Order: sequence, then C-alpha cells, then structure tokens
Amino acid sequence: MENLWRADEASKYGTDLELRVYSSNLLGRSDELVLHGGGNTSVKSMVDGEEILFVKGSGWDLVSIKAEGFSPVKMSTLLEMAALDELSDTDMVSGQKAAMTDKTAPNPSVEAILHALIPFKVVDHTHADAVVTISNSVDGEKHIAKLFPNFLVVPYIMPGFILAHEIFKMTRDFDWDSCEGIILHNHGIFTFDDDAKNSYDKMIEAVSKAEDFLNKNAVLSFSDTKPTEFDVERLKVLVEEAKGCEIVMKVNQTPLALAYASQEHLYMKATRGVLTPEHIIRTKRVPLIVNNNLETAVEKYVAEYKAYFEKFAKDEMMLNPAPNYAVVKNFGVVLFGKSEKESNVLNDIIEHTMTAVLRADKLGGYESISLKDSFEMEYWELEQAKLK
Ligand code: ZN
Repeated sequence: MENLWRADEASKYGTDLELRVYSSNLLGRSDELVLHGGGNTSVKSMVDGEEILFVKGSGWDLVSIKAEGFSPVKMSTLLEMAALDELSDTDMVSGQKAAMTDKTAPNPSVEAILHALIPFKVVDHTHADAVVTISNSVDGEKHIAKLFPNFLVVPYIMPGFILAHEIFKMTRDFDWDSCEGIILHNHGIFTFDDDAKNSYDKMIEAVSKAEDFLNKNAVLSFSDTKPTEFDVERLKVLVEEAKGCEIVMKVNQTPLALAYASQEHLYMKATRGVLTPEHIIRTKRVPLIVNNNLETAVEKYVAEYKAYFEKFAKDEMMLNPAPNYAVVKNFGVVLFGKSEKESNVLNDIIEHTMTAVLRADKLGGYESISLKDSFEMEYWELEQAKLK
C-alpha cells in the first residue's frame, strides 16, 4: 500500500501534537486501514513537567481529526489503572475524565490505557483490512505468527480495560525494544516508535506485507453476472415496518456485491460475523439473507435477533431487532440507513467486509469472533455512546 508521508508537508509541523494530527490524517486517508471512526492514535508529550498522553477522542475520525480532537490525559493515572485487577467502565471513564488536563476535550478513546502502556512516544492503531482478513481466517493464528514473527500477538479480547490489563500482564518482563508491533486477533494492529514517521512507516510496511500475502494466496476475480429481478421496494416496506421508522435504502450491485450475493450456501457464508468488532454497532452481527420468501426472511431475522439477545442479555435493553442490511440472493446487497449518510457508511463497511470474507474463504474459511463476544461488543455502553 502507498506510503503517504511527505517530508515537505511534515516539516510544517513543529509540535508533537501537530505532527500527531498530520500522521493520524494520513492513516485516515487510507480506507484499507480504517473506516469511519475506526482506529486510534496517540502521542506522549511533556507538558509543564508532567507526561501527558494525547489520545484520539471518542467520536473523532482519523481522517479529519484536529488538535482539539485529542484528549490530554495524565500518563501516571492511566498506568495506575492498567495495573488494577478490576475496573468498571464507569470508573474508567470518570477516572480518565478526572485525569484530563483540559476538561473541555472529548472523552479519550476506549484504548487510552493500552496506548499509555506502550513505552514509545507515538502509537498508531488501525483495523487494516489485510491484517484482519488473515487473522479472521481459519488458520489465521498460524499465518499471522509466520508473517509477523517479531510482533506481540494477542488472542481476541474485548477492547477497553480488559484488553489493556491483559497486555499489562503479558508485558511485565517484556523486551519492548525488539517488539515491532502488536497484532490483536480478529481486531487490528498497533505500531509504535519514538518518531512519528517511523511509526507510520512501520504500519505501512506491516500492512503491505499482509497485502502481499493475500495477493499471492487469496486472489479474487468476478464474472460478469447480471442481477436477477427482485422487488426491492417491497423489501423497504417490510424493513421499515420491522424497524418502526423510515429508512434511506441503498442498493449495491457492483461485481463484488453480486459475487457475494451469488455464493452457494449463502445463508451460512454471509452470516459469519463482523470484520472488526466495532463494526457491529453499525452493521449488527449479521445481515438479513433473502433467498426466496421475503416476508418469512424478515420475520426469521427478527426472531433470531431476539433469541440472540435473550441468550446473552443480563440487564441490557434490546436494541432495534430489525436488520441494518440485506444480502439478496443473485441480486446484490441492500443497506438500510436512517439517512443517506448512514447508508453510505454501511455500504463502505460492507464492501470491505465482503472482500475480506471472500478472500479469507480462499485461505480456507472466514471466522470472526464468537456470538458471546459479538454481543458484549454490540451492547457495550462505550461503543453505543459513539452512535450518539
Ligand atoms: Zn481497534
């Protein structure tokens, strides 16, 4: 993939934070690295004699983040939090808020503690398609270990405090200097360095390595199939009924969407979960699959969503049980946003997901996080807060 760093542009930025904004925007410009609010970045800087972590604020996009989108949090507080055996989300959020040197800044990213733990000035985190595609394949662990021998590889753990604390334990007697980065299985990748350019370069190099592997082992080609007839307006009516609100529908019939919708065993193939956990708050875990009877398909979706909710819920309130997108056999993919913008965001995420799923199948099969892990992510307060 292309390295977008330009020395002449970078030379305009004098402070740690300015340069942090620059390379965050570069990461955000590559949609094969992050999409719509995905990923996060940080820089550690001394302010009035105290070490401060400037970390991406929740709700900001890397592509457009500005200095005010970074949340300044005292490193000492974050490192104390990492060592705790337990920390509730409420305590984490209020503790971090109290440790912010500017209370008007946004809430720090849910990964702030993990960023603090990495003992390098600059930390970059993305959900790079190529890395998660390989990681979400049946032999993902084996491929990742081979491709990234000098990375710390972490099995899937829910983001936030639990993940940070696990990495705290894993790295207590750890040689960070010989560690080139971190791969979080089914989630993404971290690179880091004391220099902003080096950290960015390491990200581009690592992701390029994963892309090369896929270009050798998981090549996609699409035939020129024509979509079949389908009453998409009727679908819209049924989904609006199920959702209880109006939607702005978007139909995707690109060669990719058509190939995806024309797979054999469509139901099984297209319901294997999200590419990276945070997508779930937008897409839900699975789409509506329309094979033959439309009415029955919508009813079945809602019933299965309710069963999934009841299986894992403790005291949560059920979110809207209707689908956010559909895969219609031999027709294509249909997105159901509340606005045109939301439908476009969904479309972007699903396009990347479809490519990853088809490629992972070339590697032997696509495999995402478990139902239980999906539920925990979908119903995590700190994720739902991002939609507000
Ligand atoms: Zn992430």
